[in-house]
Amino acid sequence: MAEQSYDYDVLVIGAGPGGYVAAIRAAQLGLKVACAESRETLGGTCLNVGCIPSKALLHGSELFEEAHEGTLASWGVKTAGVELDLATMMAGKDEAVKGLTGGIEFLFKKNKVTWLKGRAAFDGPHRVTVGDQTVTARDIVIATGSSVTSLPGVTVDNAGGVVVDSTGALALGRVPQHLVVIGGGVIGLELGSVWRRLGAKVTVVEFLDQLLPGMDGEIRKEAGKIFAKQGMALMLSTKVTGVAVEGGKATLALEPAAGGERQVLEADCVLVAIGRRPNTEGLNLPAIGLEPNARGQIETDHEFRTAVDGVWAIGDVIPGPMLAHKAEDEGIAVAENIAGQTGIVNHAVIPSVVYTMPEIAGVGLTEEAAKEGGRAVKVGKFPMLANSRAKTNRDTVGFVKVVADAGTDRVLGVWIISSLAGTMIAQAAQAMEFGATSEDIAYTCHAHPTHSEALKEAAMAVQGKPIHI
Ligand code: FAD
Ligand code: NAD
Repeated sequence: MAEQSYDYDVLVIGAGPGGYVAAIRAAQLGLKVACAESRETLGGTCLNVGCIPSKALLHGSELFEEAHEGTLASWGVKTAGVELDLATMMAGKDEAVKGLTGGIEFLFKKNKVTWLKGRAAFDGPHRVTVGDQTVTARDIVIATGSSVTSLPGVTVDNAGGVVVDSTGALALGRVPQHLVVIGGGVIGLELGSVWRRLGAKVTVVEFLDQLLPGMDGEIRKEAGKIFAKQGMALMLSTKVTGVAVEGGKATLALEPAAGGERQVLEADCVLVAIGRRPNTEGLNLPAIGLEPNARGQIETDHEFRTAVDGVWAIGDVIPGPMLAHKAEDEGIAVAENIAGQTGIVNHAVIPSVVYTMPEIAGVGLTEEAAKEGGRAVKVGKFPMLANSRAKTNRDTVGFVKVVADAGTDRVLGVWIISSLAGTMIAQAAQAMEFGATSEDIAYTCHAHPTHSEALKEAAMAVQGKPIHI
């Protein structure tokens, strides 16, 4: 029987870090590839309204705070008349986004990936409509990402600038006097930090009794202390039951999470940051007989195949942490699997980083999760206060924590609070990928003086023998 012919070998739906990477790798492997994207620019949430613009504002606001709060003066660098030029800071952020999204367009051209501009929806097996055209493909990858979760009783209006989501908070035209952040997760703390540094009073309202769910317990507790010390007001174990907006001001109704007396909070800006949900509506999944799970995610096997033949899924739209690097690695793996190779992602070793100052990073199991999983663990900790480079730089906040299996000494998880935690965690991830023991890290030569020596010392502390404390 003659093989059926298709317009494309592979059609990727969505050009975020999952989709654009999958499309490029599939093209590199010799396949004819198209990628459907409805946004005006490529790069998805990450490049347009996520990782990149938030990091640009985190960097700019950090420079402003250093100059403005006098930290530089303590190093003999005198500044005078420091002023915020918010428009220039925003323009710098827009420039970063433009450069990087344009870069993906260049890579598509270079690798001969066809960009189909418009919203894609299934029209039947192997058939997809994109805008007013219909195309066929042998393999289709759903990489549609995620959108902001809404809070019942709260209407987001990014253009109005009073009740905003992360996209609105990345483009405010003024520094709020009082910003209330609903949700003490990654977005709330990163964007709350940006606006606090630029001069806003910031209150974070978090439903749970600690910030940053999913991270190690000691890290969460320490993070709470650090953000409170930086001047953020933290209202833990508290829920928002409604927000009313009038005359450019918001009035929030709050209650203890467990129920109790109602409180009212006034603000001129409210950021709703309570999580994200997978994008599946509008894809017409019934046309191929595919149904999302109870959480709205598309389930796949380890090769990223869905329950429907020829349909694959990756990134934020499938279960797992909603992180750009996880989506990228899945993009490479799915393309390799489609091409008949073996694409694997080790979901046990996905690092995560909160880009506040200090940064907060982790990889692998928390101490709590390891114990809940029935393992006996040994823990080694080392404070940045005892690290010579951090001490020299007056950058001593935080610690490194290594969680190892008590029997085999294999490293199960590493958790770090430090100005350079996001860079330091890469070494831990690589060591874990190679199945390292804490002894392997302890006996690896680390350059001196570096913050990374704190990871070596924390690994030595697993055996109770750190040198510098
Ligand atoms: P997305 O990046 O969401 O891309 C999906 C794309 O699909 C979108 O462009 C969308 O327009 C398109 N699309 C959807 N449906 C259709 C359709 N039917 N037809 C055509 N196109 C469609 N992660 C990190 O790892 N590090 C960070 O520092 C970080 N910072 C973040 C900061 C913020 C403010 C936010 C909101 C997120 C951040 N994230 C970060 C998370 C990261 O952005 C996501 O995990 C990542 O973008 C997911 O990639 P993806 O390819 O799965 O989906
Ligand atoms: P999140 O899940 O990190 O945090 C949401 C927080 O809101 C949680 O602490 C939760 O307990 C709280 N919450 C939920 N409902 C609430 C309510 N009604 N009232 C008060 N608090 C409530 O979600 P996010 O911060 O919105 O981020 C979304 C996703 O984007 C995350 O999965 C994250 O991985 C990703 N992201 C990553 C980075 C990074 O890697 N640096 C940065 C930004 C976003």
